Amino acid sequence: MMVRAIDINLIDEINECARSVHPDEYLCTLSAEDGVINQMVLLPGTVYGDSHSFLSMWMAPANCDIVGSAHSHPGYSNEPSDADLDFFSNMGGYHLITCMPYDRGSWRLYDSRGEPADLELVSRPF
Ligand SMILES: [Zn+2]
Repeated sequence: MMVRAIDINLIDEINECARSVHPDEYLCTLSAEDGVINQMVLLPGTVYGDSHSFLSMWMAPANCDIVGSAHSHPGYSNEPSDADLDFFSNMGGYHLITCMPYDRGSWRLYDSRGEPADLELVSRPF
């Protein structure tokens, strides 16, 4: 699927979840609809830990268009770690990292090579 945008409300939700599991890492996968990343998909087998989270991709429901992942850093850096870069390149797609204080200014989106990705920000209509 061609992804062109990410929903700002989803970023708010990710930040909320990150805040609620702090100081652990929050981790989920992301799915897209009509080219807009707009949903968190929680996978069974996802383990939260204070070192690094582990995600079982093979547990992804077959009917979900998983286009990437999101996770939190319980610190003030949203730079991908070496383990993150490995994970991004294995999985492909887009990967969001948010960090403290988990607000609209604390996240960054990366592509599968760990380069900052430039997607349009949209707000889902209600
Ligand atoms: Zn990380």
